[in-house]
Amino acid sequence: MCYQKETIAAIATPIGLGGIGIIRISGDNAEIIARKIFRPKRPIKSFKSFRLYLGHIIDPSSNLPIDEVLLSMMYAPLSYTREDVVEINSHSGYAILSNILSLVLSLGARLAKPGEFTLRAFLNGRIDLTQAEAIIDLINAKGDISVRLAANQLGGNFKKKIAKIRKKIIWALSQVDASIDFPDEESDVITELQLSNYINKSILKPLKSLISAHSQRKIWHEGTTVVIAGRVNAGKSSIFNRLLNKERAIVTPIPGTTRDVVECTVTLDGLPLKLVDTAGIRKVKGKVEEKGIKLTKNQIALADIILLVVDWGRPLNQYDLGLLKEADHKTTILIINKVDLTRKLNETKINCLFKNLPKVYISALTGKGFNDLSRAIFYKITNNKTDISPIEIIPNLRQKTLLNKAADFLKNTGRNLKKGFPLDLVASYLLWAKDSIDEITGDKTNEEIVNTIFSRFCIGK
Ligand code: GDP
Repeated sequence: MCYQKETIAAIATPIGLGGIGIIRISGDNAEIIARKIFRPKRPIKSFKSFRLYLGHIIDPSSNLPIDEVLLSMMYAPLSYTREDVVEINSHSGYAILSNILSLVLSLGARLAKPGEFTLRAFLNGRIDLTQAEAIIDLINAKGDISVRLAANQLGGNFKKKIAKIRKKIIWALSQVDASIDFPDEESDVITELQLSNYINKSILKPLKSLISAHSQRKIWHEGTTVVIAGRVNAGKSSIFNRLLNKERAIVTPIPGTTRDVVECTVTLDGLPLKLVDTAGIRKVKGKVEEKGIKLTKNQIALADIILLVVDWGRPLNQYDLGLLKEADHKTTILIINKVDLTRKLNETKINCLFKNLPKVYISALTGKGFNDLSRAIFYKITNNKTDISPIEIIPNLRQKTLLNKAADFLKNTGRNLKKGFPLDLVASYLLWAKDSIDEITGDKTNEEIVNTIFSRFCIGK
């Protein structure tokens, strides 16, 4: 894959009010453009890499200053893109940033596409695809553990693991090639059975453990969706707020005020949770509430865990029973809220009809039982394990699919070896396995896949 070596530019920080904003320029003309609009406080003959220079951005047509800025120059190849890169730290604010960007574009730079700076880092060989994807994970990380995992991958640990597997496939291939080229020199080449065992133990085993690590991705990277459902006034919003530790949902004694779905991300012992407060599913005539009910049902369908709330101070009604009957003990935790009130709830009925559901007794008013609730959520996510720590490398879906593909080719290689199939065929399977591995790192990939990956980035990255 090649690219036009145009100089590109973009605003690299989120648009909005803030202390500073950054405009990033990359390419052969980055310095020339910067020099045309930057008036340093003290004259500069030549910039030094990674040093900040104070000065003003000047509109060359009017010679008027736009903003006081700090400018840094990072010369190729020691830069993010491996090209010459200029970063202008201006005050943040849409008008200032877009004025400076317009000037840069008017002087010959092209507006960068989403992820184009990182794409150049990949095309120029500074990072591989697993590292590019780690940057996306790092930006989207929801908890300190997902930050650690993404940083680990960005540091090249996945790349190294993959390189080891690739080296072993190449070695196996060299053995097959040697048998094809020198069929009579048996002493130097391992037997077909030995090779098949080697593939199983040394290549397939680490591949399989990487593949199975993918199942942890949802837990650590994407986060578990926890939906709080229950009848009106059962205390859903109060529970939501307590779990959030801040007032994000409206808490009110008037039924049906929380009509829409409110979401927030929190972390529970390093596990990212997407908490969803619903309006509650119930029979109402109003159109807006119908929409709310539909949303709640949709949310329950999307939930990994449902916190089903019943009220200790009220007897079960049809609505409670309707929800309880549909509840699956694998995904639902029954929350008995308002235990500070006198009991009117028919607990025996619950214990008898829904004995499989894990139960937690709490009071969202006093905070009683919330430690138990956190523990119950943690256990549900981790399948009742008291202590889980994430595996060092957790492949994403693209990587897992390719690892699976490589594993399938290797399984076929082993089978063909055992059955004594022609060695040319065996070699082909090994080559296909290697190609799948190369697709993971991007050593061999097509433009469409690369574009899809980088389109997930924001502009300026
Ligand atoms: P939702 O409709 O299920 O979201 O219920 P809310 O969270 O809005 O709570 C309904 C009412 O019950 C409010 O007046 C809350 O203050 C009250 N409430 C919530 N939890 C408790 C609790 O544990 N004990 C008592 N006594 N009142 C509670």
